[in-house]
Amino acid sequence: MAGVAFKQVSKVFGKDVKAVDDLNLEVRDGEFMVLVGPSGCGKTTALRMIAGLEEATDGDIVIGERRVNDVPPKDRDIAMVFQNYALYPHMSVYENISFGLKIRELKSTFWQLTHMSEAKKIREDIDRRVREVAKMLDIEKYLARMPKELSGGQRQRVALARAIIRKPKVYLMDEPLSNLDAKLRVQTRAELIKLHRQLNTTTVYVTHDQVEAMTMGQRIAIMRDGLLQQCDTPEMVYSQPANKFVAGFIGSPPMNFFDAKLVNEGGRTMVVVGDLKFPISNPAASGYVGKEVTLGIRPESIFDKNLDSRVKSNPDNTFTAKVDVLEPLGHEYVAYLFADGHHFQATIDTGTKIEEGKNAEFVVDIDALHLFDKDTEQAIR
Ligand code: ATP
Repeated sequence: MAGVAFKQVSKVFGKDVKAVDDLNLEVRDGEFMVLVGPSGCGKTTALRMIAGLEEATDGDIVIGERRVNDVPPKDRDIAMVFQNYALYPHMSVYENISFGLKIRELKSTFWQLTHMSEAKKIREDIDRRVREVAKMLDIEKYLARMPKELSGGQRQRVALARAIIRKPKVYLMDEPLSNLDAKLRVQTRAELIKLHRQLNTTTVYVTHDQVEAMTMGQRIAIMRDGLLQQCDTPEMVYSQPANKFVAGFIGSPPMNFFDAKLVNEGGRTMVVVGDLKFPISNPAASGYVGKEVTLGIRPESIFDKNLDSRVKSNPDNTFTAKVDVLEPLGHEYVAYLFADGHHFQATIDTGTKIEEGKNAEFVVDIDALHLFDKDTEQAIR
């Protein structure tokens, strides 16, 4: 096994499309790293550079201890799973899974073998491995079928089996679940996590779906316009986003942002949005007193005052807002609120008595407020 590293890697297409801009990122040996970001941010290009399908314009790509910029893809000991997996249509599931392995393991040795028993041993080993991965991915009963006799989800699992059977140093996965329907996506997501726990193979996984990133990644690298914004655990990118972009990208519904000002009132730093005013415990905020900032509040940090919540109401954290729309999700509501000229969202527990078109009182968790520099958009901390 091996880790993967990008060292000051850039990729420029044509004259001026900088798909990846001075990327420094280390994927640890055995780690499941997710590259996530909006369409066009450079994540696929980064992945393809590890695979050797794209050449870096600048910098070093390292797999294990080895700089691989000049190593051809087939010698990099990686396996890729794409969104559009292509199974061989004329081969059974069994043959699809074993094909690459047979080519690799028999091609070099088979014709030189003096004893056919050796070849038999290799074939038996391949057979054992096919059945092992088929069992892992729950496709044992389809081994004799042809790809056209499978559902999309089953086909995708065959594609995964084909990649996994090779036991490479690194798995590279590019949106491998995006062709599956929602239920199957969640199921296969869980299977992939389980699989990684069993195999512990270094995996770099590309997705534009932040939920997929949060649920699958041991760490998440968030990219925007070719630039790495933050790389950390799901907990950290959620609770301590490095900047406004990450804060708005991670979390659903997304974080609410307000133009705000910081003031000092009787020795306390307060954030002011029109008539709304909350104390700020973040010590770094004192350096911004008198300045305009962006205030970020996650929808899940706003509570119905009249429901039992983990945050108790007090004069500092309570405010009134009009409930525009109440969207039921079953386990909670998304409330579209309006206060002091601002529209924002809150997730409210079931059991709430708030009603559309009426004012209600809400409590905000002031320890979970986020502040961003208005110009640089970096988190203030
Ligand atoms: P998506 O989620 O849409 O696949 P992505 O984050 O994976 O997006 P990339 O495919 O890496 O993004 O593309 C990054 C940028 O590089 C985009 O602006 C894209 O248009 C550009 N790009 C990618 N491949 C090429 C190419 N072969 N020639 C020119 N420009 C390219």
